[in-house]
Amino acid sequence: MLKTLSIAASVLVLSVVSVNVFAADDDPAVWRQRKVTKEKAAAVGTTSEDIAEEIRFGREIAARIIGRYGLYDNDELMKYVNLVGKSVAANTCRQEIQFRFAVLNTEEVNAYAAPGGYIFITRGALTHMQDEAELAGVLAHEVAHVTQKHIVKELNIQSEDTSAASGMARLIGGTSEAARTAFAQAVDKALDMLFKDGYKREDEVEADRTGVSFSALAGYDPTGLPRYLEIIGPTKEKDTEVLDKTHPGYKERVSWLTDTIKNDGLDAVGKKAGRERFTSTVRIK
Ligand SMILES: [Zn+2]
Repeated sequence: MLKTLSIAASVLVLSVVSVNVFAADDDPAVWRQRKVTKEKAAAVGTTSEDIAEEIRFGREIAARIIGRYGLYDNDELMKYVNLVGKSVAANTCRQEIQFRFAVLNTEEVNAYAAPGGYIFITRGALTHMQDEAELAGVLAHEVAHVTQKHIVKELNIQSEDTSAASGMARLIGGTSEAARTAFAQAVDKALDMLFKDGYKREDEVEADRTGVSFSALAGYDPTGLPRYLEIIGPTKEKDTEVLDKTHPGYKERVSWLTDTIKNDGLDAVGKKAGRERFTSTVRIK
């Protein structure tokens, strides 16, 4: 199934069109530079072995996510989600990662990111969206979980020590029995994070704040994500009220997203809503 995913993704490499619609008095280069500097700082200590292992690790997690829900079989939609996703992912400094996007065949309203750039949105989530900026906002949030390496850091499988053989490669990249066990345990823990425990609160804040700038840099109206949260928030909160109190509620997320957009002037950077293309492509009942 992953083969399908990678083929669908690679078909789009050459077909990504520019969606940048910047206001004349803004300077996207300044935004880009600011992002790149911040992300480079976060990437210190990453080796090529780490990256290869992150991708291998993420591929296994992605396979388990697909195994759980199955892919939504619609080529046009798959291409479209990749088009939007790749345009927001183009604004990160993790160019060593080929981001891939796919739709999961479930009514559950959710999105997932596995390390190495495997991003999923559910069919249920798409049915609640009104335009492309909302889709871009959700995908950008998931892309940010990958660029900021939230799972890798939380599982403590990346070394802080830049001089030694890299952390991830050392811990899960070997072929010994112990390495295989460590790899399997790390995959299980990552799936627990995704399906049960959630990310740390500060990681959600960071993914929201980082993601919203990825969206704006791709030319999208950055209020897409808060608008989407306002739509799904009340229903999701009802479903999940027994969850732990450390997980940020939608009202809180809307509030800090609105502050970020305002304080960073992101609404002047991205304007595109893409409602027409969204409604003509995403026709899920
Ligand atoms: Zn998140």
